[in-house]
Amino acid sequence: MDIRDVFQSRRTTFSFEFFPPRTAEGAGDLFGHIKEFEKLKPTFVSVTYGAGGSTRQLTHDLVVKISTTTPLDPMPHLTCVGHDEREIDEILSSYAAAGINKILALRGDRPKGVTGDEPFKHFRHAADLVGFIRKFNESGRHPDRRGFAIGVAGFPEGHPDTPNRLEEMDRLKAKIDRGADFIVTQLFFDNRDLYDFRDRCELAGVRTPIIAGVMPITSIAGMKRMADLAAGARYPAPLIRAINRAGGNDAAVRRVGVHWATEQCRDLLDHKAAGIHLYTLNKSTATREIYATLGVENSLQLI
Ligand SMILES: Cc1cc2nc3c(=O)[nH]c(=O)nc-3n(C[C@H](O)[C@H](O)[C@H](O)COP(=O)(O)OP(=O)(O)OC[C@H]3O[C@@H](n4cnc5c(N)ncnc54)[C@H](O)[C@@H]3O)c2cc1C
Repeated sequence: MDIRDVFQSRRTTFSFEFFPPRTAEGAGDLFGHIKEFEKLKPTFVSVTYGAGGSTRQLTHDLVVKISTTTPLDPMPHLTCVGHDEREIDEILSSYAAAGINKILALRGDRPKGVTGDEPFKHFRHAADLVGFIRKFNESGRHPDRRGFAIGVAGFPEGHPDTPNRLEEMDRLKAKIDRGADFIVTQLFFDNRDLYDFRDRCELAGVRTPIIAGVMPITSIAGMKRMADLAAGARYPAPLIRAINRAGGNDAAVRRVGVHWATEQCRDLLDHKAAGIHLYTLNKSTATREIYATLGVENSLQLI
């Protein structure tokens, strides 16, 4: 079912995020986990786009393979930094030809060590990419007459590039006004941040569905890596205390992290989140444990 229709029906969406493995072994491993993810019947799965387009082909090939060889419905991420209009057009045409009907439109980060405006010469902000995809849709070149459903990033705790949080909401609204259909958020660990963000969106006139990003912590090393990657995400004191209590016991840290994420999901369901997006790091175990502790076998039972 088209995600726009799922939102219309007011059912919560469940989605899982993967990154494209760079080795054949990693790809084999992921497809082993994908067999397990299939049983959870997600609404869709998403595939990240390596910084600055570094996984352009890998992302494309993984999305098409998931679409053609599994029952899962994939959504590619696409960043516009460093790309020109011709390249973005090629990427969109190829996804359209493969019947992919949703896309997460992002700006991406400035490539490390590069200063100046060069990477942003063609597309300055994600809003420009949204506008470009909208025009592509209107050109009738997508086999689905509605074209791609367009998702954009949202940051419940704010994006570090724009410390002015009022201006930031205007920027978010600009992406919606240019044609975005839904928002997927940066991961967060305190649901109050999401509910407040949802309220601030409403006040700013942003009424598109907001899919909440949740990441189960499975190790202290992973938590530290994420603190760097997930710009601005805050680890609340009760979570840090619980992780500290688990000390250096890896299995205990993992239990604490998965339990925390499970409670976040339960509370998000109670608060009628439009969607829950689990950052999986290509492993199915934590996600399966969350579903089991929520008392269900798959997403269709998560109401
Ligand atoms: C769910 C999710 C998935 C992601 N997936 C990927 C991925 O696959 N690959 C990857 O490389 N990165 C990914 N990212 C990271 C993302 O690319 C970075 O966070 C990037 O810094 C911002 O992208 P954006 O789409 O939010 O950009 P934008 O919406 O353009 O915003 C970036 C910053 O610019 C500001 N801004 C926007 N418009 C204007 C304007 N007109 N004037 C002045 N300032 C403005 C915004 O307030 C914000 O601070 C993801 C992030 C999220 C939340």
